[in-house]
Amino acid sequence: MSSETCAARRPGFDQRPPIGRNSLPCTQPAYHQGDHSNDFGDRWPVTAREKALAELEADYQEFLATLLKREEWKHIARKLEGCYKAMWAGDDSILLRQRIERLEALQAALCGTPERLAA
Ligand SMILES: [Zn+2]
Repeated sequence: MSSETCAARRPGFDQRPPIGRNSLPCTQPAYHQGDHSNDFGDRWPVTAREKALAELEADYQEFLATLLKREEWKHIARKLEGCYKAMWAGDDSILLRQRIERLEALQAALCGTPERLAA
């Protein structure tokens, strides 16, 4: 996620010049859940359209994360395959074994066991 702010303005004030605290934009993170709020702590509810857009964005981010994870997996798998081939060809160096361990730990982390990275 990014560090953008929502910046939504209160309905009825969004087309007016930005004068007065009711015109201050929302300072919550972009696509936040729940009410909007400004720097004064004034809150106003999200509209149904904004809620639908936030849900779409969340779905999209989840989709992107899945794609990235899949591509990362393929990338690591290709590297590992190269390492295994080198091992089968007779390379029994410590460096190669360490590289294989590291790549296998990365794959384990992608499978949901990130504690293996600490080993
Ligand atoms: Zn907001």
